[in-house]
Amino acid sequence: MIFYLLAIYVLFQFFWWAFHIIQLEQTIRDLSLEGITDQLGAANVQKSYLKRVYMVVGEGAVFAILLLLGVWRIQRFFDREAALADKERNFMLAVTHELKTPIASVRLLLQTLSRTGISEDQAKKMKIEAINETHRLEHLVQNILLSTRLDELEMIDRSRLDLAEIIDQCVVKMRRIAGTGRSIESKVQGEVAFFGDAMMIESMLLNLIENAIKYSPDESPIHVEAAIREGRVQIRVLDRGVGVIPPEREKIFEKFYRIGSEETRESKGTGLGLFIVKQIVNMHNGEVHALGREGGGSIFEIHLPQSK
Ligand code: ADP
Repeated sequence: MIFYLLAIYVLFQFFWWAFHIIQLEQTIRDLSLEGITDQLGAANVQKSYLKRVYMVVGEGAVFAILLLLGVWRIQRFFDREAALADKERNFMLAVTHELKTPIASVRLLLQTLSRTGISEDQAKKMKIEAINETHRLEHLVQNILLSTRLDELEMIDRSRLDLAEIIDQCVVKMRRIAGTGRSIESKVQGEVAFFGDAMMIESMLLNLIENAIKYSPDESPIHVEAAIREGRVQIRVLDRGVGVIPPEREKIFEKFYRIGSEETRESKGTGLGLFIVKQIVNMHNGEVHALGREGGGSIFEIHLPQSK
């Protein structure tokens, strides 16, 4: 507020001073003309008066434009900072919730398990559920750690990876977390191998499959595909979920970005998943795109350079 008041005050001062200087110049011109009788002398006085007026107006305009430009830049900076602070606040809310929920349910499951009178079958189910909750927790912590590490990381470990194997591992892991009813299928055409960081590629796939599970109905199938297309490795994760509308397809890859507001969203998350995916893909010199799917749903498509 003080900044804007000051900016308005300075702008107002510019005009006020310019007005006064021009008035002063007029008085000087009138006084000078009083003693001059020839036309040439009068024309010279008028000419130098106009020159000084143009100078005052020109310099004043440059100052005013620079001032307005500065105010505009600062305003943009403030807006960006406010948006980031907003996203970080949302992120903190989401993370606190996401951390508390699995911890609370694991504790509840363990408390129930420690009671007597539980059948073998029930106990088995509860143990599986508790293990799944810890997987979820592990995935969340890994995402948070990875998102801070990726910001600073410049080099990655590269080794020859067999994508079919990694996709299989991820699918098995996510099937376990999603529950028995969920159909997650993988299809790898031929041998798809490239040089990359195994841990990162796994994390990238897990995030995409987790999103496909989260943002689509329980009974709808999820497909993970990989193939070599036009000399590049193509990975696709397809779902039949809510889809992403075109104006959001770029933004969802920003850090902490989530569609909608914290009050209206049904699914929980941190807004880190796709940011991590994009960072990992960039580090492997690839590209990632969110696409619409005919018949409803989304396709997340990744292209990576093939290893020689
Ligand atoms: P999170 O899932 O924790 O909110 P992400 O970075 O993984 O964060 O995703 C950002 C946003 O993109 C999500 O909030 C969601 O609105 C949208 N999104 C991601 N994946 C999908 C998908 N498969 N289908 C529909 N929307 C998606």
